[in-house]
Amino acid sequence: MRKRIIAGNWKMNTTVTQAVELAQAVCDQYTRHQVDVVLCAPFTNLYAVYSVIKDTPIALGAQNLYWEEKGAFTGEVSAEMLKSVGCQFVIVGHSERRQYFGETDETVNRKVVKALAHHLTPIVCVGELLQERESGLTEQVVERQVRGAFVGVTKADAAKIVVAYEPVWAIGTGRVASPEQAQEVHQFIRSILISLYDKELAESIRIQYGGSMKADNAAELLRQPDIDGGLIGGASLQAVSFLGIINA
Ligand code: PEP
Repeated sequence: MRKRIIAGNWKMNTTVTQAVELAQAVCDQYTRHQVDVVLCAPFTNLYAVYSVIKDTPIALGAQNLYWEEKGAFTGEVSAEMLKSVGCQFVIVGHSERRQYFGETDETVNRKVVKALAHHLTPIVCVGELLQERESGLTEQVVERQVRGAFVGVTKADAAKIVVAYEPVWAIGTGRVASPEQAQEVHQFIRSILISLYDKELAESIRIQYGGSMKADNAAELLRQPDIDGGLIGGASLQAVSFLGIINA
């Protein structure tokens, strides 16, 4: 039985003060401990958020990392640095990073490998653009992204990865995928994982849905057999709406 995992992706939002307040509010209202909860704060707020959640079941995540160990890579942040501020998770290959910062399947894979080497759990994002869906290319795109992310990843390490299916047309648009549309792709992703590894491994990997998930549509999405949680953008910036999803 896969444990549900709800992660908030705060993106480029929150000052330190706001991040601490939000993390505290989530902690105060979080009682359903049978769900894994992760707060993915901006780099600048990670340690402050860690200080709030460190004695709670809530985990800390970053939104990106760089694949080198250390050195002359101005502006980048390594896996070891993320570990040192209390991160257990890191989002890799979010569509905004693929779209605006030139991330490719190859760089996503490098980041996944480096995160795993430092015992950080990668939340690997995949998902098609609207025009790709409308051209019938959803499976082709998602398959390329999933296979690309898992290149060179052993079965033991693959078991630690969380995949997030995020149709790009649903992110921040209010246009949520229907439970059937999402389930279809989640099942397809699991079938790719079976072909890459085996059924037992594929059945153990958690696949989150992301894209305009809110308290009022979460229950129906999370009822689908292959949807194991959510990666939440906008609705994670208010404790009430984030908790509404967790409680769903
Ligand atoms: C995201 O950015 O990962 C996301 C799912 O955003 P939103 O919930 O705002 O659509």
